[in-house]
Amino acid sequence: MTHVRTHRPASSTTVHVTIAARTLLGLDDEPGEVAGIGPVPAALARALAADGDWRRVLTDPVTGDVLDVSPRVYRPGAALRRFVQARDKTCTTPGCLVPAIDCDLDHEVPFEEGGQTVRANLHASCRRHHRQKTLYVFETRAAHRRRRRAAATTRWGGPAEAPF
Ligand SMILES: [Zn+2]
Repeated sequence: MTHVRTHRPASSTTVHVTIAARTLLGLDDEPGEVAGIGPVPAALARALAADGDWRRVLTDPVTGDVLDVSPRVYRPGAALRRFVQARDKTCTTPGCLVPAIDCDLDHEVPFEEGGQTVRANLHASCRRHHRQKTLYVFETRAAHRRRRRAAATTRWGGPAEAPF
């Protein structure tokens, strides 16, 4: 039997949901399981799994013992994108009105620095503002200090301190 285990961040908490692949696909309604809680209805398990990071886990169908864990993490990108677009509505740079559906999904903590592709670490950013933020990575220390002073008065800065 194939299970999909999701690691779903809710602020700093990770929820581990185990759900049979057939159930995830809607082919049956076997209960899923939330670690530390126990069985949950199939519909709830599917909802929890909708935008987590998924990892395939093969289990023995009789004993439930884990036989193999895929080293790869899968990301259901479309569902996550729709969520962030609906939540943010526009580019999250203050004053920018570019609709979120025309924006990039930008990592608050950069992917290269271990930032996860999950709701809490993603926001809508139009191409122009996304590029500006990415370019900040290459600025000098002096430029960084100048920008921090400016950010202190405008409440808007680059990737290091922007809470968006
Ligand atoms: Zn923008």
